[in-house]
Amino acid sequence: MKLSNNTHDIIVVGGGIIGLSIAWRLASEGRLVTLVERNQIGSGTSWSGAGILPPANLSQSTDPLDQLRGLSHELFPVWAADIQSETGKDIGLRRCGGWYLAESPGEMAAMIGLADYWSQLNIEVEQVPLNNLKNAEPSLTSWSESPRALGAWWAPDEYQVRPPHLLKAIQEACQNKGVVIEENANVCDAREIHSKPQIKINGEWQACEQLVLSGGAWLSQFTHRQGLGQSIIPVRGQILLLQTPIPICTRVINVGNRYLVCREDGHILVGSCEEEVGYQNGTSDEIINELYQFACFLIPQLEHSKQVHRWSGLRPMTFDGFPMIGRIPSTVNIYVACGHYRSGLHLSTGTASIMTDMLQGRQPKIDMDAFRIGKQIL
Ligand SMILES: Cc1cc2nc3c(=O)[nH]c(=O)nc-3n(C[C@H](O)[C@H](O)[C@H](O)COP(=O)(O)OP(=O)(O)OC[C@H]3O[C@@H](n4cnc5c(N)ncnc54)[C@H](O)[C@@H]3O)c2cc1C
Repeated sequence: MKLSNNTHDIIVVGGGIIGLSIAWRLASEGRLVTLVERNQIGSGTSWSGAGILPPANLSQSTDPLDQLRGLSHELFPVWAADIQSETGKDIGLRRCGGWYLAESPGEMAAMIGLADYWSQLNIEVEQVPLNNLKNAEPSLTSWSESPRALGAWWAPDEYQVRPPHLLKAIQEACQNKGVVIEENANVCDAREIHSKPQIKINGEWQACEQLVLSGGAWLSQFTHRQGLGQSIIPVRGQILLLQTPIPICTRVINVGNRYLVCREDGHILVGSCEEEVGYQNGTSDEIINELYQFACFLIPQLEHSKQVHRWSGLRPMTFDGFPMIGRIPSTVNIYVACGHYRSGLHLSTGTASIMTDMLQGRQPKIDMDAFRIGKQIL
C-alpha cells in the first residue's frame, strides 16, 4: 500500500464486484477514483459466487428489488460487451437458460407462484411436463423418472457469468480508465469533517470529496461511527466444483435454494448452503458431501465426475433483505453500497449505475427509497 497523497476526489472502499463496478463507472465519467482494498482485489466474496443471473424485467416491475434486478439484467450484456471491447476479456456471460425443479409440495407451490408472477412481468417461463423433460434436457432423464420429481419449469432468460473472469476484466477496465488501486490497505475507521469524508488507513487519515463504502460482509467492522456496526450479517455459502470429461449439460439447474451451474467446459458448480458462522470461511465434509449427493441424484453420471475444488464465501446479509444503496443520512458525502446477500454479482451493474447517478448529482433511474441507509442504524 502506498497512498501517494491524502486528498482524493472519490475513494471507494472494497475491491469486490460492487466496489470495482462503481469505480469503473465513475472513472468512465471522468472522475478521479482511488479504490482501496485491505487484501487483494477480488479476494473477498465475489470470486466465490456461482454466477447465476436469474431472469428479470425492469419495464414491468413495481417491486423495488425486482426493479433493481431488472435494471441490472438489462445492463449486464451491455457491460459485458463494453468490458470486452476495453480489455479484450470475455467475462463468460452466457444466456444459458435455467431449469427450476420442484421436489416437494412447498417447492411446487413456490414455483407455481413464481412462474405466475414472472408471466405477469412478461418474463418467459414455461412448465415442461415431466414426461417431456428427457427430450428437453437429457441430463435430467433419471431425475424426471424418480418419485421425487414433481414439476419442472424452463426460463430461457437466465444467464451465467464466471465471477473470477469478471473480476479480472473489470479490474483491468478500471486501470485502463485511470482508477488508482491500492491493495493491502485496511480501512479501520471512517468519518466526515465539514462535509469532507475521511478514512483511516495505517494510522493515517485520507480525505476525499466523496466516499463510497462497499466492504461486503465486513462493512460493519469499520462503520461503528456511522451507526452501521451491526448492519451486516455474514452468511457462509459452500461450493463444490465437479469436472466431467465432456459437458453433460450447459444450463443452470435450480432446486429450491440449491443449484448446479453447468459450464460449457465440463465444469459443474454445485451450491450451496446458508450458515451463520461469523467471519469464518472454510468448507466442511458434511456440507460438501450433501452437495455431492444432491448433484448425483439430479444427474447420476456425475458419480463418475472428478471433485476438483471446494470453497466458501461470506454473503453480506441485511436484516430486511434489501441491500443498502445510498448516502448515510447523517453525512453529506459518505455513501454505502453493500448488503447484496445472494445476488451481489447480478445486482452489481444496477447498483453501480445508480450509485454513479447519485454521486454525479443525477436522479437515479429507479426509486431507491427501499434501499435507503438509516433503517439499519442502531
Ligand atoms: C457460495 C456463494 C454463491 C453465490 N452465488 C451468487 C450468484 O450465483 N449470483 C449472485 O448474484 N450472487 C451470488 N453470491 C453473492 C455474491 O457473491 C455477493 O453478494 C457479492 O460478491 C458481494 O459483493 P461485494 O463487492 O459487496 O463483497 P466482496 O466481494 O466481499 O467485496 C468486499 C471487499 O471489501 C474488502 N474490505 C472489507 N473490509 C475492508 C476494509 N476494512 N478495508 C479495505 N477493504 C475492505 C474485502 O476484502 C473485499 O474484497 C454468492 C455468494 C456465495 C458465498
